[in-house]
Amino acid sequence: YLEIDGIRREFGPVVAVEAVRLTIQRGEFMTFLGPSGSGKSTTLYILAGLDVPTAGDIRLEGRSLLSTPPQHRQIGMVFQRYTLFPHLTVAENVAFPLVVRRRPRAEIDAKVKAMLRLVRLEGFEDRKPAQMSGGQQQRVALARALVYDPPVLLMDEPLSALDKKLREEIQFEIRRIHQETGVTILYVTHDQEEALRLSDRIAVFSKGVIDQVGTGEELYAHPTTRFVAGFIGDSD
Ligand code: ATP
Ligand code: MG
Repeated sequence: YLEIDGIRREFGPVVAVEAVRLTIQRGEFMTFLGPSGSGKSTTLYILAGLDVPTAGDIRLEGRSLLSTPPQHRQIGMVFQRYTLFPHLTVAENVAFPLVVRRRPRAEIDAKVKAMLRLVRLEGFEDRKPAQMSGGQQQRVALARALVYDPPVLLMDEPLSALDKKLREEIQFEIRRIHQETGVTILYVTHDQEEALRLSDRIAVFSKGVIDQVGTGEELYAHPTTRFVAGFIGDSD
């Protein structure tokens, strides 16, 4: 469904991503797991169209995405830190992707309402981001990313700034949204527990390459490299 075909990204002498090859199924929850600097974000940015690979291709349903600008890729994205517009209300933030797509007002209102219900933030329409907790802001960001029904959603460590309780709460929301909407998700984390809890499959990144891809059970039971064994195995 979504094919990452041998992408490579160099920054001067630094090879950030090297020959990454991976096929993601429609509706799959795929997680990129790996240590800092292993190329997870770079791969995600290339998929989102915020960065361009030095070599390789990406395809959605067989069509190359490289010549498609970000706003036409139908790929939603949520970042690590809240990236809401501070001067807009919650409802205006969520509505934004539909406003720029010039959807009719009635449709926008109905959609915003439905999205705020999905992330359990009914009644928060008129607040500004600064008047909400970090977890609530992250849920608004999730609602905004999903509001135009993108078939693919990218999330780059969306919960790493949150405390444990909030993190588990939103992990649960993300899992529920994945089940309810059937959206294909690519999720980045360096928290193996989170990866095991959320994912259908996990791609373990190490130094710009994918070391191994599989379900949590597969990686745990049959790690093919010492690195995967160490990273997935013992958390303490
Ligand atoms: P983290 O878990 O810390 O977010 P990551 O796996 O997301 O790490 P990337 O951000 O993809 O890692 O970076 C991979 C490598 O590419 C790193 O060595 C990084 O320093 C380098 N890199 C990333 N972006 C740039 C850039 N714009 N210019 C130069 N080097 C970069
Ligand atoms: Mg990163």
